[in-house]
Amino acid sequence: MSKMNFNEPYFLYTNCIPVKGFNRSIIYDLQREDYEFIPNDLYQILKEFNGKTINDIIKKYGKNNISAIEDYFLFLIEKEYVFFSNLSKSHFPPLDMEFSKPYKISTIVIDIDSDSYVKYIDTLIYELKTLGCGAISLRFLNKKTFSISLLENILEKFKDLPTRSIEIWIPSKGQIKKAESEILDNICLIYQRVYRVNVYGHIESFSFLLKKSYSYLCTYVENLEYKMHALPSLENMVVNLELFCESQNFNSYYNGKIFVDKEGYYFQTLFSDQSFGNVASVSLQDLIKLSEFKKYSIIKKDDIKVCMDCEFRYMCSDSRIPEFKIKENQYEHTTLCNYSPYSNSWIN
Ligand code: SF4
Repeated sequence: MSKMNFNEPYFLYTNCIPVKGFNRSIIYDLQREDYEFIPNDLYQILKEFNGKTINDIIKKYGKNNISAIEDYFLFLIEKEYVFFSNLSKSHFPPLDMEFSKPYKISTIVIDIDSDSYVKYIDTLIYELKTLGCGAISLRFLNKKTFSISLLENILEKFKDLPTRSIEIWIPSKGQIKKAESEILDNICLIYQRVYRVNVYGHIESFSFLLKKSYSYLCTYVENLEYKMHALPSLENMVVNLELFCESQNFNSYYNGKIFVDKEGYYFQTLFSDQSFGNVASVSLQDLIKLSEFKKYSIIKKDDIKVCMDCEFRYMCSDSRIPEFKIKENQYEHTTLCNYSPYSNSWIN
């Protein structure tokens, strides 16, 4: 751990990035995937004096503020956010915030309803293999026709796709018994990219780690649509380099995301009526080139009223659709978020 040195220039570690909010700021620790709140005064110091000495800061803020400045640096040193060095600033270049991915599609959400899947799943899988896909969410919509063998059948089809993770949504058929969770655990063990099984419409909500596969089994009382509308919460915030860079350049929820409904129609969001054709007639390759289809992808949190003032804006994925207000020449949401950056309080 560094020692406090008043005469040697201090530097923030490149992967520790302060982000300013309306009332307070956050240091995003992109390497440890963690964060800490800091006052906006400290944000200002970090921005203005990085590469300068603590004595330079004292010169500007006066000797009356020495003890506050010392406290700030004790905190920064303890958290290992800063180090001291006489090397010039050019030795510590900032992170490159350009965002690129080794796949063309970030997430595809595919709805499956009984036999309808046979019409389009094979075509989709063929295209996903060519384009690459980061994550797949499979939503089984029909309680009557859902079965474990249907689930296995579908997962077998997705088995050879070069995809990092698969999430599953299945309807509840009542109480989840030990035997059922063991069956799901075994399935996750065979298909190891399944990292979470969500059971919706269950009689109670709970979640636990499955013992063999280390996948999560999560149950929700609410129906599927309610969950997909879920607003941001502190538990769902994610600090990592990929999301941080993506959020600087794109809308982190809509960028590279595709929804395919149970008939094989493409949608930009689950909440829109505008379809962009069917798997049978429009290729994924052509779909992702359509500028109309990508219109929400390029609206960053920095472009949206309220979010632009929020300290969580580079760790939060929010599915609300931003609307452009001509009068204000700005994007905004027509519904309120769970969090207010102006009062720093959560509604729920
Ligand atoms: S205000 Fe915007 S950035 Fe902040 S938590 Fe809500 S949706 Fe996320």
